Amino acid sequence: MKILAITNQKGGVGKTTTCVNLAASLASLGQRVLLIDLDPQGNASTGSGVDKAHLKLSIYHVLIGEKSLQEVIVKSEKAGFDIAPSNRELAGAEVELVNELARENRLKVAIAKLNHAYDVVLLDCPPALNLVTVNALTAANAVMIPMQCEYYALEGLSDLVNTIKKVRAHLNPALEIEGLLRTLFDNRNMLAQQVSAQLIDHFGDKVYQTVIPRNIRLAEAPSYGLPVLSYDKSSKGAVAYLELAREIISKQHVNKEKKHG
Ligand code: ATP
Ligand code: MG
Repeated sequence: MKILAITNQKGGVGKTTTCVNLAASLASLGQRVLLIDLDPQGNASTGSGVDKAHLKLSIYHVLIGEKSLQEVIVKSEKAGFDIAPSNRELAGAEVELVNELARENRLKVAIAKLNHAYDVVLLDCPPALNLVTVNALTAANAVMIPMQCEYYALEGLSDLVNTIKKVRAHLNPALEIEGLLRTLFDNRNMLAQQVSAQLIDHFGDKVYQTVIPRNIRLAEAPSYGLPVLSYDKSSKGAVAYLELAREIISKQHVNKEKKHG
């Protein structure tokens, strides 16, 4: 089971858009996908067609140990994947868990109980390096960092990379950065091209080949509670996320072959 944390403490870089649309794209390619919304903003839930205002159960109840993941998962019929939703209640978990034992491991333990019922689990992280994000990094076996190619993008990256190193040292030795994803990309923008070139210089093949363009359809789809694949499957955004899904699946195959000789 691939458990991919989609994270960047910088806000508005396309984490949630990537989670929802990658989930739908992987599902359309036959993968069994679970999306876990770990942000109290609940945008991944809304964007997958789940009404976050009227949730009885959410990921909050899993993290505080009241419910199992199975009990909070809902099927997003229209989107084609399952989702463990979230809403504002999750903001309280941070405080409530402060004095709990093994508080960083809550999500990992909950996911282990799923018994490999999914091929891929995507974790939509909040824009913060907080306890919920540490839970995601502890549960994950790979990290995807969506980023906008702009001047300050690289600065924030070192804080994130340091957090990942700490989690690897103390909580999750198997954690790997799978890739950096260029999002909201505008090819006509010279600065974006320069930053993109710098990224490739620094991180080499850790930069996904697929680039997600700025595309209005991606911004519109969530207001219908739909991934872009269901909203406008011929849009540039839909095509890009399908390509990303294919790239991730083929990376997985390459890694397996490396491991097994
Ligand atoms: P937060 O840190 O608040 O959780 P985020 O990193 O999850 O934000 P998103 O919510 O995915 O970012 O995107 C921020 C805004 O940009 C949203 O309004 C979204 O619809 C829009 N957006 C994201 N990606 C694209 C894109 N490729 N083209 C056009 N609009 C986009
Ligand atoms: Mg988000």
